[in-house]
Amino acid sequence: MENKIQLLDSSLINKIAAGEVIERPASVIKELLENSLDAGATEIKIEIEDAGLRGIKITDNGHGMTKDDLTLSFKRHTTSKIKNTNDLFNIMSLGFRGEALASVAEISNLKITTKTKNEDVGNFIEIEGGKIIDQGITGSNTGTKIEIRDLFYNVPARKKYLKSNEVEFNHILKVVTKYALIRENVSIKLFRDKKEILNSQKTSMLLDKIIFIYGAEIAKEMTPVSFKDGNIRITGFISKPSLTRATKQDQSIYVNQRYVKNSTITNAVYEAYKTLLFINRHPVFVLSLKVDPKDIDVNVHPAKELIRLKDEEQISKIVLNAIEKAFEDTSLIAQATLDYEGHRKADKKYSFSKDFQSNLEIEPTETQRRLEVKEPTPTYGIKPQSNKPNPYDTNETTIEEPKNKHENFGPFRILGQVNKTFIVAETPRGLCLIDQHAAEERTNYEKFMKEKKEQAIKTQILLTPKVIELNPFQFRTLMNHEQFVKSLGYDFTDFGENSVKLSSVPEIFGRLKSILFIDIINELEKNKGGMVTDEIEKRIIRFSCRASVKAGDELTPFQMRELMYKLEESDNPFSCPHGRPTIIEFGVAELEKKFKRTGW
Ligand code: ADP
Ligand code: MG
Repeated sequence: MENKIQLLDSSLINKIAAGEVIERPASVIKELLENSLDAGATEIKIEIEDAGLRGIKITDNGHGMTKDDLTLSFKRHTTSKIKNTNDLFNIMSLGFRGEALASVAEISNLKITTKTKNEDVGNFIEIEGGKIIDQGITGSNTGTKIEIRDLFYNVPARKKYLKSNEVEFNHILKVVTKYALIRENVSIKLFRDKKEILNSQKTSMLLDKIIFIYGAEIAKEMTPVSFKDGNIRITGFISKPSLTRATKQDQSIYVNQRYVKNSTITNAVYEAYKTLLFINRHPVFVLSLKVDPKDIDVNVHPAKELIRLKDEEQISKIVLNAIEKAFEDTSLIAQATLDYEGHRKADKKYSFSKDFQSNLEIEPTETQRRLEVKEPTPTYGIKPQSNKPNPYDTNETTIEEPKNKHENFGPFRILGQVNKTFIVAETPRGLCLIDQHAAEERTNYEKFMKEKKEQAIKTQILLTPKVIELNPFQFRTLMNHEQFVKSLGYDFTDFGENSVKLSSVPEIFGRLKSILFIDIINELEKNKGGMVTDEIEKRIIRFSCRASVKAGDELTPFQMRELMYKLEESDNPFSCPHGRPTIIEFGVAELEKKFKRTGW
């Protein structure tokens, strides 16, 4: 075939560019939101219909455009933000490529209405597939309103790559959340099909924004970062090692107020946590870097999400130092947090203080009441449960014949506890150590699975229902999986503004804080709106059982016997649901060998 080079017509060029800039409805929102922020808007309202494909409307109170600017704004490579090459390397605005409006205009029906503060009347222009179809004057407030209908109507191939409405909407929410987090004194409202999803308040306190987006439980576990080195300033919050997530979703990095993805910075943060993180767990952070615009290149990616750092090593070192210093200063946090709480109370619409009590008050169950009975001395022979004989009610000298349900399991004569972790016992075969946490995890797991199978999960009613603030993602996930979460024994109702009122919890997890409830939601969130498979359900129940076991509990002899009794009753007493052993036995022969008594 003969090659023939042609200059593409401008409509085709725009469609090609649109492919790079506008990948999905969320990319449109990102570009428009950035334009509103660049225009100095302090109030931005975003309205979405049908995950954005049918309609997107964004209204801002920024400086608006004159009629002349309006007619240029949607052309390709038209921008008010840079003028020459010098400017390109000194960018403080979010936009500068002059491509966004042109791209959107090419693949939708776009109407822009705008007015500057010096004009009495506004101007509008309507464009479809890149062509002007209407224009004129109209009443308008100062600022800009952009309405988009039928996105991708003329690029069906792009439409095919889109995911479900839920997934697309989640992308939109993610973009809006990132900017709602960082912009001081800007209020961003997001509506979907007329329902308010997010309404970030004007505040200059980053922690307030974090509380608003992530909820108070998370905010409590965050440590402030504030660090300066030469031209570089880092501020923000990072989670204490006690708060981690299964995904990196709750990590935000901003460079000169632009949300970016940058592995140099992310890696430096992880480096600072070093051994404090468990495998596959990720910290939560919101970090804002201010650097000299000359030290970065933001023009490396059409969506401007990736940036190049001129001196990666230097930035990496500074980020590392900043976070290490934040950890060193952690002792100051308690005080700082109290201060912030004071602040928060003044905020009427979102008073988060209601969630600050982290322990649930729970009506004690029968079992708990029984366990709490103080034993004067280690008396043996108390029957822990029902009327069944307890094989561990042994006396000092005799070991009963095994009546146990498992071969090579017990009976045990309990000798004591080591390090509030291991139970030491004697069996007819020798010495054994039981990991009390693994054992409890196993018994909880089997009990819960049995209750679940019989659809008879025991629940505990909270004396005072607890209001739990969720972020908009968590709220949506929870509502999408309401049936499932309720089937685990949680009961809750929608409490407005992305919060729920929790009124009962499964008895087995009763000791727990609402953190576990949130962990379950986060686990479901990872599943991206899919069905809850058996595997996911098991994973959730396994980690719930693990989390429900309290570390380092001093056990009374009675409690130890009760635990061993329950362990023996389980179907698989030898390992915890995660596969760790519950029990290790040292045979008499092995002990003899260790003491070199063999052959005596
Ligand atoms: P860029 O943001 O890269 O300059 P865009 O295509 O996004 O390119 O926008 C083109 C121009 O239109 C901007 O430079 C700006 O002057 C103007 N503009 C776009 N949106 C707004 C808005 N919401 N308020 C005021 N001016 C706007
Ligand atoms: Mg722009």
